Amino acid sequence: MANADQPYEDSILDHERLITLINSITDGVIAIDENRRIVLYNAAALNLLDLNIVLSGQPLSEMMKLFDKDKNPIDLDALINLIKVPTSTRDYLLHYQDKSQINLYLNIAPVRLGYKQIGQRGFVIVMRDITKEKSLEEERDEFISVVSHELRTPVTIAEGDLSNIQYVLDSNPDINQLKQIVDNAYKQIVFLSEIINDLSTLSRAERKTLKIDLTAIDPAELVNSLVKNHRSEAAEKGLEINANIEPNIPKFHSSQLYVKEIVENFVTNAVRYTQQGHILVGARSQPNGIEFWVTDTGIGISRTDQEKIFEKFYRADDFRTRQTRGTGLGLYIARKLTNLLGGAINVKSELNVGSTFSVLIPDKSDEKAN
Ligand code: ADP
Repeated sequence: MANADQPYEDSILDHERLITLINSITDGVIAIDENRRIVLYNAAALNLLDLNIVLSGQPLSEMMKLFDKDKNPIDLDALINLIKVPTSTRDYLLHYQDKSQINLYLNIAPVRLGYKQIGQRGFVIVMRDITKEKSLEEERDEFISVVSHELRTPVTIAEGDLSNIQYVLDSNPDINQLKQIVDNAYKQIVFLSEIINDLSTLSRAERKTLKIDLTAIDPAELVNSLVKNHRSEAAEKGLEINANIEPNIPKFHSSQLYVKEIVENFVTNAVRYTQQGHILVGARSQPNGIEFWVTDTGIGISRTDQEKIFEKFYRADDFRTRQTRGTGLGLYIARKLTNLLGGAINVKSELNVGSTFSVLIPDKSDEKAN
């Protein structure tokens, strides 16, 4: 004989299966009826909405406070009223009570929640936290826009110079005038290649594919060679540059290439941002490694700028900085490389007095021995 309760039990079983199924979905899922009240939801939805109450029967618009990117509130009911086909958006922010917010992917699809019954038209909403992707996208867009802007300036100047050369050659070739224009075009192209080199180191450092070749480094030799290489550049500006190396400083193990790149960056900046006085390049031993430092009597860096100079493309808002050429990438790369070597970078500076940049590079002699 057939069991009269069978269909009822079947429907309970179906319902449980459905609940298990939607709870196993990692995206938040909410179904609402035609009065925009919640009829079904999964654990991920509770998590995303950061609520621990029973949502069934609650109006969706009160459980979910959405805003657009200009912080204008979204009328969710009005939005849903317009939806006739499955629609998705990545543009909204979900605000929480503690004023924090996340970027939300939302897909809203009209559905029929029950058959053969009137008033069973509703919607299924699928949502996902896309804050991380959004910030990567924004960073990428910002990066492309800054890079293209940075590249455009030298290209435009060099292009203008070359067209000037053509003009001068056509009219009355004056060798001195030509030399000046060629010099300028050459400088712009060198600058362009500096930016491109920085960008390529940057991209390798970001992808962490930079290989660390541990070698024995003689800090005194490294400092002396940097001072020697920058002496004529400093002298052109009337600056003195000297080494200040701790006596009997020991050799240590790290990446010669990267340590040199980091300290060289400090030295280039010290020369670039000092109008008069002197620059000292030093090395001293520390308990767990070697510290390199570069002190200048330059324009200095304000407190607010000190927090930002290690950011990508950041250049201080000081007219004296703007008078010099720079990509704003040097210190960003220096910090990346320092992190790669397990070191720490530091700056102390006072406006109009000078700056000291230092980097502590840990000694990896133990790793080399293994
Ligand atoms: P760049 O020198 O190419 O602009 P960096 O990343 O090397 O880029 O430096 C970022 C900014 O930090 C510079 O634009 C400048 O404003 C500031 N800065 C760096 N070094 C010094 C220094 N020694 N003295 C004064 N300002 C400095």
